[in-house]
Amino acid sequence: MEKILFSTRNEDKIKEASQILKDLELESLGSAGLSLDVVEDQDTYEGNAEKKAIEAMKLSGMPALADDSGLEIDFLGGEPGVWSARYMGGATQKEKNQAILDKLKGVPDSGRGARFICAVVVVFPDGTVYRSRGVMEGRIAHEAKGDNGFGYDPIFYVPEKGKTVSELSAKEKHELSHRGKALRGIRDALAKGLEK
Ligand code: IMP
Repeated sequence: MEKILFSTRNEDKIKEASQILKDLELESLGSAGLSLDVVEDQDTYEGNAEKKAIEAMKLSGMPALADDSGLEIDFLGGEPGVWSARYMGGATQKEKNQAILDKLKGVPDSGRGARFICAVVVVFPDGTVYRSRGVMEGRIAHEAKGDNGFGYDPIFYVPEKGKTVSELSAKEKHELSHRGKALRGIRDALAKGLEK
């Protein structure tokens, strides 16, 4: 089966997507010898994902997949949302997570609702486009916990597990996660498109 190019420089996303899509072979921009820096200037996850996928498809001539994701926090009016990657400029992820915990200090569980969103878009050279979206509901933890995952995982508490995402195994995260849902939602269409 033909390979699919994952339009991202985020190694954590590639690792997760490869685990979720199992039988489909993903190629990273790096391993394809491609350099691509897409400006994520759209105001929707779908818009950014489609832009990243189209640019990668045009550059490589390969079917290309892109994911745009973010964390929406009710108490912060939905921030950082679609701006999650650029939230707080050059701050480290640890600093960003601490800043969010500080902003929500003293807020009871009932006010700490949050969700991870993931939009996935696949674009084929013949112009076929597939789109899928996944959401994981939870709340902002009172402290960062766990060592697994990446990004905002240590401060995202999953009530049904009684743990943060960083305390879950990769398998447990993928079963519940925004990325797991979005990629499973597109997997069959993707496999069919690759067989054409
Ligand atoms: P983007 O999709 O590359 O724009 O990244 C959005 C931001 O959300 C980045 O700061 C990521 O670290 C973060 N993010 C995306 N997916 C996840 C996840 O599964 N867990 C935790 N943080 C994530």
